Amino acid sequence: MSFPKIDNIDIRKVTEDILLIHQKKTPFLFSCCDGLLILPKEGRNNSTLALDLNIEPKYVKIVNNRYGPVSNYVCTHAHVDHTCHVHAWEEHGAIIHAPNPEAKYLIDLHNFYRGFGFDEAMDYASVVKFGELNGFQNCKRVNSFEPGESLKFENLCVNTISFPGHSKAHIGFFLPKEKVFHISCLGFDKPKPEIDAFGPWYGFKQASIEQYIKDINRAESIFLNDAKCLTSSHSYIVKNPDTHPFEYMRTKIEINQKEVDQALKTSDSMKISEDEAVRKLLKMDLFFPKKKLKAFLLEIYTLWESWIIRKHIQRSKYFNK
Ligand SMILES: [Zn+2]
Repeated sequence: MSFPKIDNIDIRKVTEDILLIHQKKTPFLFSCCDGLLILPKEGRNNSTLALDLNIEPKYVKIVNNRYGPVSNYVCTHAHVDHTCHVHAWEEHGAIIHAPNPEAKYLIDLHNFYRGFGFDEAMDYASVVKFGELNGFQNCKRVNSFEPGESLKFENLCVNTISFPGHSKAHIGFFLPKEKVFHISCLGFDKPKPEIDAFGPWYGFKQASIEQYIKDINRAESIFLNDAKCLTSSHSYIVKNPDTHPFEYMRTKIEINQKEVDQALKTSDSMKISEDEAVRKLLKMDLFFPKKKLKAFLLEIYTLWESWIIRKHIQRSKYFNK
């Protein structure tokens, strides 16, 4: 089968009948993620399945016409870059599935606002604007499942793997027969091997660095022992036994820790409270240049960065608990 070009869409072959699809230019930073398209295969699945392929509605239409119809769509967690356009798949007839407890965030942005703790730092109006910026629209109906559950679509087995360090619901997909492992948003976000990126993301209250490290180690062992190919939400295809994704993610966390340690060393941190230390370090723009950000984006980036900083402060030897 050949795969003719679609403008602004990259289509990469993972196996003969599994594609990794990537939207190149996106409306905003958090409006799209790469995902898998499982094409029909005799004896396995008669209809196409989409795994966490959040691209703009105009591309959903083209992809669905060409490779679909997509009967089922599985989301990996409810960060906006994984949810904003899922409604378009639903409009084209796909049944939407998402993991608990975040499945309900797809049907109402207010659930996203409260569920991720934005309500502790800003008005709902700011999150509505953030949703609009990324093109968020609600889904009408979402079937929920538990992270770690195995899903079956006709004879296709999709094991979901819980990676809760990133967010409570966050899952990867392992296709045992096809030996394809999709680690979703775990933090391997390099567009090319030679290009650096942000790495693991834990800018929310319920994210956890310790859990993150466990998740990375677990993902590494699944990949090396059981998979042939590794894909993720914001990166290229990796072939076993390349361990670069895992080394990259662990190193990024350590670099972030060093950054915070260094800032604490220079700010008399042994004498101040955790909240004061977070406020001090936020002013240093360690992770996000916030000086030019205005209004709701400043609020949102400040919230994310405050959690990244707080989590590193809590595990720093330069902070007196
Ligand atoms: Zn995410």
